[in-house]
Amino acid sequence: MKARLSFKSYKGFVHPEWNSYLKAGGLNHLDPRSSLVKEGLRVWAERLKDAFRFSGNSVQVKKSKHFIVFSSLESGELAQLLKRAEEFYSQFMSSPLKEIIDEDLVIPLILFRDKELMLDYTEHYVDLKNQNLGLNTAGFFLTSAEYPQIILHENDDYYAIERTLSHELTHFILRDFNLPVWIDEGLAMTFEHIHFPKEGSMNYFDIKEAEATWAQRANIKAFLNGKAWNFLRPKFTYGLSESLVQLLLEDLTTKEFINFLKIANYQDGGRKAFSTFYEGNLESYIVNLFKPGVEHMFAL
Ligand SMILES: [Zn+2]
Repeated sequence: MKARLSFKSYKGFVHPEWNSYLKAGGLNHLDPRSSLVKEGLRVWAERLKDAFRFSGNSVQVKKSKHFIVFSSLESGELAQLLKRAEEFYSQFMSSPLKEIIDEDLVIPLILFRDKELMLDYTEHYVDLKNQNLGLNTAGFFLTSAEYPQIILHENDDYYAIERTLSHELTHFILRDFNLPVWIDEGLAMTFEHIHFPKEGSMNYFDIKEAEATWAQRANIKAFLNGKAWNFLRPKFTYGLSESLVQLLLEDLTTKEFINFLKIANYQDGGRKAFSTFYEGNLESYIVNLFKPGVEHMFAL
């Protein structure tokens, strides 16, 4: 018999084991694929040369175990960023996602000082207008590039760079899954908030705004299908995604969760995965969450 997914136990949790693992400092030691790094250098050097020349900064290239970074940050900040990047990476190894991590990963990070240039570069790969992305975007994960890469803006607020990195890294890890946007973003927010629990948190969202957004059934379809994702209210979509994903993490075993990810796909918005594990269908499940008078986790 299938279980019923209940919001009753939801605490906005971050799995305690993940934090203890972080403290223990566990990390797999991996050899980067050097030919790949070389090829990456060649491709990016071409395109980046111009971008950085215009920005008036010299580019540094630095490598750690799992990352190679192109940036005009000064070397102290750059060393700090790589150290943090490795910490973020190690977080995945103590989460259910460790089951799916390709251990040969070398993750390219490209930082732009100038936001316009960042968007120019990104436009080679992403239709920004069509996705309602622009100057308020702090970073991207580019999956359609020659080699998947993370693009970040060298924000004056250094910690904003780290926060964006912790988020985009999740998208990188999940890149081959063809997941529904809400699962992809929900996991990215979950990992972001392990390191940045308060800053920029969308953990809890405004129930009035939620009900208003949800008044139209079309919005639920858009949320699940992910096509008009960036046109919906971000505070709401990200908040709901994060909550749903954390609920699944809490409710399912690691094995079940990984199976859920394998069944879930972008085309059906995760509907099939949901009904594989739970009673009822995902769409009505969400509709019911926002029925007036229903007691739910959003009332904090
Ligand atoms: Zn994201």
